[in-house]
Amino acid sequence: MSAPDPRKAQMILDLRRGGVRDARVIEAMERVPRDLFVPEAFRVRAYENVALPIGRHQTISQPLVVGMMTEALDVGERMKVLEIGTGSGYQAAVLAPLCRRLYTIERHKALLDAAEKRFHALRLMNITTRFGDGSKGWPEQAPFDRIIVTAAAVDVPPLLIDQLTIGGVMVIPVGDDQHDQRLLRVTRTADGVETKDLGAVRFVPFVEGKAKNY
Ligand code: SAH
Repeated sequence: MSAPDPRKAQMILDLRRGGVRDARVIEAMERVPRDLFVPEAFRVRAYENVALPIGRHQTISQPLVVGMMTEALDVGERMKVLEIGTGSGYQAAVLAPLCRRLYTIERHKALLDAAEKRFHALRLMNITTRFGDGSKGWPEQAPFDRIIVTAAAVDVPPLLIDQLTIGGVMVIPVGDDQHDQRLLRVTRTADGVETKDLGAVRFVPFVEGKAKNY
């Protein structure tokens, strides 16, 4: 075991101060080396509570947002989970040890390739990736117990709700104005959905349509 990284300890403190309570979430985030998920130039800032650029005009979310979303998802170890927006792969690396299998979709090939290398290096064996537009979900693998969307959609995509189990939960940032997005927790019920507003967030936009092969 390497010596505990004081910057990581500060990140954990920031998570607790920010209201993340679930010990499994804290432990999962303690384990993942966030510095491997950001470009070399930002490595010294990897454990600060900020979003950082990862290329292709995308960002890795700030640790507190990852913590809040993971906690809100309330994942169980037998669950099948879908993530839309792999990006750096950080959120996926936090979630994977908490569930049975994680499916993750990314529309930028270069980002997905880099994320896959990280999953491999960290021996995260229960992640299945897909290159493409995640707005249609992953019908061949549906239904999912949990769905997490890590880019802001204008509205909750109905096609994704269809891919949730009854009782299943989706966590998704919603809002077309970059300065007015809300994080929603949507639970699928027998006859519809129940929605809870978890507060203001800021995400890169969810982009529908053709994926980017570079
Ligand atoms: N979870 C990521 C956050 C990445 S930012 C992390 O931990 O690093 C959001 C990502 O969503 C971007 O990489 C963006 O390319 C991707 N994205 C946006 N719209 C998408 C869509 N329709 N399908 C798949 N990925 C999408």
